[in-house]
Order: sequence, then structure tokens, then C-alpha cells
Amino acid sequence: MSGTFLLLAQALIYFGVMATLFRLRHMMGLGAFLCALGVMHFLETYLAAVFFIELPFGLLSPGSTVLFSGKLAIILLFYIREDAETVRQPIYGLLIGNFLMVALVATLRLYGPPVSLPGYNPDLVLIDQMGALMVWGTTLLFVDSIALILIYEKLRRLVPRSVVLRAGLSLAIILTFDQLGFFVGLHMVTGTPLGALFGGWVAKMGAAAVYAALIGLYLGLFERDATELAPQPLRDVFHKLTYRHKYEELLGKSGFDALTGALTRERFEALGQATLARCAPARRPVSLAILDVDHFKSINDRYGHVTGDEVLRRVVECLRTESRSDDLIFRYGGEEFVVLCENMPHDAALASAERMRLAVGRTLAAEFAAAPTISIGVATFPEDGADIRGLVAHADAHLYEAKRQGRDRVVGNRPAPQTQEA
Ligand code: GH3
Ligand code: MG
Ligand code: MG
Repeated sequence: MSGTFLLLAQALIYFGVMATLFRLRHMMGLGAFLCALGVMHFLETYLAAVFFIELPFGLLSPGSTVLFSGKLAIILLFYIREDAETVRQPIYGLLIGNFLMVALVATLRLYGPPVSLPGYNPDLVLIDQMGALMVWGTTLLFVDSIALILIYEKLRRLVPRSVVLRAGLSLAIILTFDQLGFFVGLHMVTGTPLGALFGGWVAKMGAAAVYAALIGLYLGLFERDATELAPQPLRDVFHKLTYRHKYEELLGKSGFDALTGALTRERFEALGQATLARCAPARRPVSLAILDVDHFKSINDRYGHVTGDEVLRRVVECLRTESRSDDLIFRYGGEEFVVLCENMPHDAALASAERMRLAVGRTLAAEFAAAPTISIGVATFPEDGADIRGLVAHADAHLYEAKRQGRDRVVGNRPAPQTQEA
């Protein structure tokens, strides 16, 4: 019993510290969190190979049960709150870093036996065994991490309601697979007894349940209002996780929308995050305006799609004229655009959005019989959202409110300052 209690305490400490670093990612940067994650790997593998405790259901290793399972849980949490493009960075970093470590140890071994010093007992057998295990464990971790995210993503359709259940199930499946895989390696290299297979598995299932509950607790306590990305096709997630996505993007697309010349939605995903990451340490404000053409469907219906397209082009031209040269304009959806303004506090963004609204109204009324107007929702980092998705969600709620109030207006946290109409 006291063994189980110790494991639980260790899991709480591990998850507690890692989740705190993760929580502070916008203040400290992701680097602190990622380094801490990486540093644990050697300890994990070492303990998993040599340090076992006996519990009523068999032999188990805290290195596997607490640290390794915990790392997968943290990677999953990282994915849930960020995205495939971000989480693939530690997945590849761990793989490459550990292979590098093994390669360096192998080079050291070319020296032959080290000089023996009194009082030291270098355990070269262990070093050699660790090399093989490290390669095997690291490869498994790589496969585990990618499969874990894909299974979690798959479960989003089957278990749409509960993050905890999804996390628990996906961790249980992957840890079962991992237990079998790692045990085969361990048994071949160090001759670990069979009792550790079952004992370790039971312990890992316990770990899956505990960590899933901790993930739920973390999300409920600290990132309650955060929205999860809409479920994506597994193929897309897999491509992103394995860097194929970016590669294809580089080969294929220029990053600019062909119709309006605005930046594409894909570019928004990357640039939005990068902009916030740049501004987060000093808490510099970033404002985001999301805008939607009012009754656009009826313009298409009444005047045809060619006119509709021309309206979109002119809208973007107006946005360009009214924004600063380093503001970024994205085509976010069909007739929805996002303007991202670094170093712009909320009031300035409201004023800027109001100028855009007036310019669009003025220009389009003069050029098109339909006289299209736009509605705009504005939100500002950090007060309205800790990350880019939170910011979009906040601005989107304001846009919805603008539509509800009768369209052709700007909605933010305060009334937009009135500008003189020319
Ligand atoms: P609301 O004021 O509520 O926004 O009304 P709306 O008619 O604009 O509603 P909604 O946003 O649903 O309509 C968007 C329409 O935009 C639907 C689609 O046919 C049209 N659309 C999307 N992309 C394009 C495009 O590239 N060119 C043209 N001409 N129309 C587009
Ligand atoms: Mg729309
Ligand atoms: Mg619209």
C-alpha cells in the first residue's frame, strides 16, 4: 500500500511541476517546459531498466509507471491545448536528442576501458545495455506519441463529450502497446523476469487513469474557457505530426489567397501563434479583428458570383489602405477576414476597425449597387485570450454580437471611439 501511495505521490509531483511549467508557457516561453520534458528521458529509461519495486500484483518500475506514462500524458495535454505543429517539435527533439546521446556514448566506448580510479566503479555493462534500450525505448516513444495523438483524435468522434475519458482510453491503449514492446526489449537486453510484464501493465493502467484525471483537473481549473480545435481528419493530423504538411505547403502554396491577395488561413495558424509567442514575454498587446461581409449571400444571389468576388477584392484593398504596413491581413474563410495587429492595444484596434468599416462602406457604396457593409469583432491579447485560439474565439463572439445588433458595426470590449466621417 505504501508503495502505491509513493507512486501516486511521485506522479502528482511530476505532473504538478510539468503542468505548472506548461501553464506558464506564455510567460516563460515553451523552452522551459520542453527542456524539463527532455531532461527526464534518461532517468526514465535508466529507472525502467534497473529499478523495480514489488507490489501485490507484481513487479513494476516507477521509471515506467510514473515517469514514462507521465511523459505521454504531458505530450497529450500539450497536443490538446496546442496543436500538431507544436507538439511534433518535442516528439522529434526527443528522438533525435536520444539517438545523439547513444551515438556519443558509443564513440566514448571506442576509447576502450576508462582509467580506473580508486573509489569509482564505472558500470560499463549498464552503459552498453542502456544504449540498446535507449534506442529501443526512444523509438517506441516516438511511435507511441504519434499513435497516442491519432487515437485521441479518433476518439473525439466516438467519445465527443469527455476529455478525461478520451485521454484515459487513448493512454491505456498506447501504454498497453508500449508495455509489450518495451518489455520485449528489456527482457532481451537485461533478462527482466516475466512478472514485470503483468505488474508493469497493471501499474500503467492505473497511471492512465490517474493522469487522465489530472489532465481533466488541469483543463478544468486553469484552461476552462479554452476551446479545443475542431476535430480534424486523421490524415491531416498525421501529416502535420510527421512534418509532411509543412513540406507540401512549401512545395505547393504561396501562402497568399489567389482571389484577394490576403494571406491564407494556413498562414494565419503559423503566423498568429508566432506573433503571440513574440509578444508574450513582455506582455505586449496584440489585437485581432475578425470581420465578415454582411448579407454576402444575397449579393451573390442578386448580382452573381463575379460581382461577389469583386466585392471581396475591394474589401481587402480597403483593409490594406486603412491598416498599418505591418498589420497582417488574412482571408479566414469565404467572406471572413482577420487583421492581426502586433503592438496594438484594444482602443487603438477599435478605432482602426471603425476606420476600416467606414472605408469599406464608403468605397463599396460608391462602386456597387448592393452597397455591402461589414461587421467586425475585436479582441486583444493578453486580456481577451491567452493564445491565438482564445483570441479568435473572443473576437468571434464580438462579431456574432455585431451581427445580432444589426450588422455594419464594430464590437469590442468597449464602444468603438467615433471617428469623423470624411
Ligand atoms: P451575414 O450577414 O450573417 O454574414 O450573412 P451572409 O449572407 O454573409 O452569410 P454567410 O456568412 O453564411 O454567407 C457567406 C457566403 O459567402 C456563402 C458563400 O456562398 C459566399 N462565398 C464564400 N466564398 C466566396 C467566394 O470566394 N466568392 C463569392 N462570390 N462568394 C463566396
Ligand atoms: Mg460568413
Ligand atoms: Mg457574411
